[in-house]
Amino acid sequence: MIFIFGANDKVVEKQQCYIQEHCYHCNNTTNWILEKNATFASLFFISVFPIKTRYIHYCPICHNGNPLNQEQYNLKKNGH
Ligand SMILES: [Zn+2]
Repeated sequence: MIFIFGANDKVVEKQQCYIQEHCYHCNNTTNWILEKNATFASLFFISVFPIKTRYIHYCPICHNGNPLNQEQYNLKKNGH
């Protein structure tokens, strides 16, 4: 029997932040995007469980952003 293992990335959550943020890269002040990404282990091309989760906060115009930890992500998500 042959098992086919793999990994694929998925966007789990994506939302616009309530607070406006200034981007020093493109010089615009906008509501940045909060995104939660996860890498899933897959078996026969079906996602089974997440191996790694990443949280990012980025500018919707130039996509310049910062990685966040889970705590920072949840704070921003709740509008702080
Ligand atoms: Zn920008």
